[in-house]
Amino acid sequence: MPGVIQRMVVIGGDAAGMSAASQAKRLAGDKLEVIAFERGAHSSYSACGIPYWVAGDVGDGEQLVARTPEAHRANGIDLRMLTDVEAIDLQAGKVAVRDLASGRRHRESFDHLVLATGAVPVRLPLPGCDATGVFGVQTLDDGAALLAGLDRLRPEHAVVIGGGYIGVEMAEAMARRHLAVTVVDRASQPMSTLDPDMGELVHEAMEKLGIDVHTDTSVTGFEVDGDGRVRSVATSDGAVAADVVVLGLGVRPNAALAEEAGLPLGDQGGIRTDMQMRVLGHEQVWAGGDCVEVLNLVSGQYEHVPLGTHANKHGRVIGHNIAGSYATFPGVVGTAVSKVYNLEIARTGLRERDANQAGFGYVTVTIRSGTRAAYFPGTQRLTVKMTAERHTGRLLGAQIVGNEGSAKRIDTAATALWNRMTVEEMTALDLAYAPPFSPVWDPILVAARQASAAVRAAP
Ligand SMILES: Cc1cc2nc3c(=O)[nH]c(=O)nc-3n(C[C@H](O)[C@H](O)[C@H](O)COP(=O)(O)OP(=O)(O)OC[C@H]3O[C@@H](n4cnc5c(N)ncnc54)[C@H](O)[C@@H]3O)c2cc1C
Repeated sequence: MPGVIQRMVVIGGDAAGMSAASQAKRLAGDKLEVIAFERGAHSSYSACGIPYWVAGDVGDGEQLVARTPEAHRANGIDLRMLTDVEAIDLQAGKVAVRDLASGRRHRESFDHLVLATGAVPVRLPLPGCDATGVFGVQTLDDGAALLAGLDRLRPEHAVVIGGGYIGVEMAEAMARRHLAVTVVDRASQPMSTLDPDMGELVHEAMEKLGIDVHTDTSVTGFEVDGDGRVRSVATSDGAVAADVVVLGLGVRPNAALAEEAGLPLGDQGGIRTDMQMRVLGHEQVWAGGDCVEVLNLVSGQYEHVPLGTHANKHGRVIGHNIAGSYATFPGVVGTAVSKVYNLEIARTGLRERDANQAGFGYVTVTIRSGTRAAYFPGTQRLTVKMTAERHTGRLLGAQIVGNEGSAKRIDTAATALWNRMTVEEMTALDLAYAPPFSPVWDPILVAARQASAAVRAAP
């Protein structure tokens, strides 16, 4: 109704929540009262920067804060820090809130509710899991605790549990702090977001960099000394000495509040929304970021893809829609990038196992090329694996492992996937070329050419 001031309540003061709050406030101005609740002490910060802060690339954790609570308040958002939302009453249109400093509770009404509660890190419920020297890396406070622990404990041996991208980035961070580093992962290769043959390249490179990688290995416990300090990690493969342990076991959607309120969850435990990020069946309730599931546009299945790049986009979309404008988040194609030292790792689309699961018949090719013209100084090696659908030749996925200048080439494949291009169409892409930047046939074009030939040759 024109002239009526509406109230938007946001739960979660980081990427998704504050993007939604900022976008809506920017568009709606005084017509919208925006209240955001954050149980932690930081707003709008980059967890993505934590490994680089720990490694020493970023000097100060405050540099990871994109917008402080004061900056949000100056923009007209009533951001209440250290405030926990304990329950949602959809019928009454209210949330139950507790001020963590005073312990005081009250209820706040909303016209629009945004759930942006993020994810909870997976922990190992094993004896010794909370010993001194065991750290998570989910939040800025975790990063600060780890750095303080490194100063205080002066460790020599680090064990990183989990060989996903956070584990791999943290392994580099620990190694650069001159610790002997072991990564323990129960998968057959690190970076299980890649196919195992590409993960093997990461494994080999990590070993060459001096990082010990134990694959097919499960953690069974922690040995703790009389002072309560971790001394080793017990695994299915024997004990690994550790005076500091970093947990990089992945996350699951933080959707308990949503579930208790009766909001719909998907198979992977994330909140289900439509393309406008409106919670299914609830006109005034929205959700975005690590607490939701998203549509994979290649497989057609809903997945939990906890990445900051999506959380920010979700927030923008929610903000537009609440302010009366219109925006959508159609889904993802599964693009991600990471690195360990100079080794760059990137993926988009489906792994072979995803393609199988989705029921695609496919061909794959793997090519080796360079990041610049072969004769140009500084050219680096890279490997590209590409997967295309049999018969149609539709691109299904690509993975890249290589040295500096490799990873961001994945964006070409991601754009092609988004536009449902065939590998034959990709061979004609007008990509930039000059010797300092690429060989005359960019590695993505080489892979597309070979994939196209494989599609033609496939029965
Ligand atoms: C070490 C690390 C590295 C990463 N690197 C990358 C990367 O390179 N690229 C990338 O795309 N992504 C990366 N990510 C993932 C990215 O940080 C997350 O996807 C992003 O932060 C999700 O934003 P969000 O707003 O959904 O959730 P969060 O950032 O988790 O924010 C949710 C907020 O809600 C608050 N909250 C939850 N429940 C309540 C409640 N009941 N009441 C009040 N407040 C509540 C929490 O305290 C939290 O601050 C990384 C993550 C980590 C941990």
